Amino acid sequence: MGDENKVKDEALQIIGLFETLPRLVVFDLDYTLWPFYCESRSKREMPQLYPHAKGILYALKDKGIDMAIASRSPTLDIAKTFLDKLGIKSMFVAQEIFSSWTHKTEHFQRIHRRTGVPFNSMLFFDDEDRNIDAVSKMGVTSILVGNGVNLGALRQGLTNFTQSLGSAGTSKRK
Ligand SMILES: [Mg+2]
Repeated sequence: MGDENKVKDEALQIIGLFETLPRLVVFDLDYTLWPFYCESRSKREMPQLYPHAKGILYALKDKGIDMAIASRSPTLDIAKTFLDKLGIKSMFVAQEIFSSWTHKTEHFQRIHRRTGVPFNSMLFFDDEDRNIDAVSKMGVTSILVGNGVNLGALRQGLTNFTQSLGSAGTSKRK
């Protein structure tokens, strides 16, 4: 619990460095929020998140930033059970969890329809570069995570998000 609050405080400090924030932060599940494929686990198990994940989620919630899930897991029931057991299920305004051959472009279209948030106001974290490639082409700032979402990835994400706004503003003025 102590670590969780420490991470949350650090995440709040990082978020506080940025003037413009995304309206929606979208997370993959497997190997982004938790260190396993939930399809290979039993619903009876007690899952664990990556060490920084919960602190980051709570910091974003504190700042009033909406959150969503985009997962290609084929086991919706296990994913939802785990989110519930972890006490974070209600934190997400959209939960798109279904297997798909598209690299999450369909997930993001659904999230956009559900929330009304434009793609360029979203920030996305995922551990697979094919998802990052496809979703960033839609205009979403997308960050590849190597070892789960952590404070470094959060800082990188907010930096890239700010830079993408800057370049959009520049092209608009031309
Ligand atoms: Mg993944």
